[in-house]
Amino acid sequence: MDLSIIIPLYNEEESLIPLVEWIERIVQGRYSYEIILVDDGSTDSSWEKIESIAQGKPQIRAFRFRRNYGKSAALHTGFENSQGDVVITMDADMQDSPDEIPEFYRLIREEGYDIVSGWKKKRFDPLGKTIPSKFFNWFVRHVSGIKLHDFNCGLKSYRGRVVHNIEVYGEMHRYIPLLAKWAGFRKITEKVVKHYPRKYGRSKYGVDRYIKGFLDVMSIMFVGRFGKRPMHLFGTLGVFFFIIGFGMLLYLSLLKVVQQTGGIDERPLFYFGILLLIVGSQTFLTGFLAELLVRSSGGRNKYHIEKRIG
Ligand code: UDP
Ligand code: MG
Repeated sequence: MDLSIIIPLYNEEESLIPLVEWIERIVQGRYSYEIILVDDGSTDSSWEKIESIAQGKPQIRAFRFRRNYGKSAALHTGFENSQGDVVITMDADMQDSPDEIPEFYRLIREEGYDIVSGWKKKRFDPLGKTIPSKFFNWFVRHVSGIKLHDFNCGLKSYRGRVVHNIEVYGEMHRYIPLLAKWAGFRKITEKVVKHYPRKYGRSKYGVDRYIKGFLDVMSIMFVGRFGKRPMHLFGTLGVFFFIIGFGMLLYLSLLKVVQQTGGIDERPLFYFGILLLIVGSQTFLTGFLAELLVRSSGGRNKYHIEKRIG
C-alpha cells in the first residue's frame, strides 16, 4: 500500500465528513491508500460520523478509545496499525489542508526523506499561542540539534519504517522528530504549509502545553542519552557525591582523632558531609531501580480500544 493517512481526533464532529471527502478527492485514483481515524474518546457524535463515513469503504479504518488518552496515544495506535509505505498524519480540525498530501508523499518517496514536517510559517492562531510556540521551538531546536521551525505541526509525513520503530507515549507527539532521530532516522526536513483558522469546535490545548512540553523535552533528552543505561548517569553522580561526602567526614574524623579537635559536630562540613553521603547513596540506588525498570518495561502502551472498524 502506498499511503496511510492517520487522523487523531477528539470531539471534531463537524469537520470529519468534509475532511474525509476532501482527502478522498486528492488521493483517489492516485495512490493505494487507507485513512485511519482514531477517535480519542470523543464525547460528541464523532464516532457516529465515522461509522457513517466508513460504511462500505474498506479503505477507511477507525479505532475508538473508551476514554480520552491524548493525541500521542491516538497517533501511536494509528502508527501501529498502519500499512502504508508512506504515513501522513493530519489534524482533524481542518487547520491543515489535504492539498499538501501529494508533495508530502513525493518528498518521502522520491527525495528519500525519512520525515517531512510541516511548518506553519503563517499561522492563524491567537498570539497567546504563537509567541510561546516560537520560543518553544527555538528551545527544542537547540537542545535537539534538529533544525525544524515548527515541531508541533500536525501535518507530517513519514517513511513507514519510521513509525514502526518509535514509541509515541505521554505527550511526546510534539517530539516525534526527536524520537525518530534517536531511533536512527536522520533525513528530516520541513516544508512550509498553509495553515487555516479553526472552523469548528475549539482547541484542545491551552498554554499548559508549554510546561508539559518543556518537561517532555527534558525526559526525551534523558531517555535518548541514558534511557538504555540509566546507571551511567545516576551511578556516576551517586558515586561522586558519596566520595566527596565520605572525604569530608574522613577529614573531620581525622581532626578529632589525631588532633583531638573538639566541636566537630557543630561544623557545617559535618552536616554537609552527611547530606552528601545520603544523597549519593540514594542517587546510586535510583540508578539501580531505573535499570530494573528499563529491563522489565513493556506494556506501557496498552490503550483500551473499545471498538474498531477495519
Ligand atoms: N486531539 C486528540 N486528543 C486530544 C486532544 C486533541 O486526538 O486529547 C486531536 C484534535 O482533535 C486535533 C489534533 O489532535 O485533531 C490537534 O488538536 P488541536 O487542534 O486542539 O490542537 P492545536 O491546533 O490547538 O495545536
Ligand atoms: Mg488545531
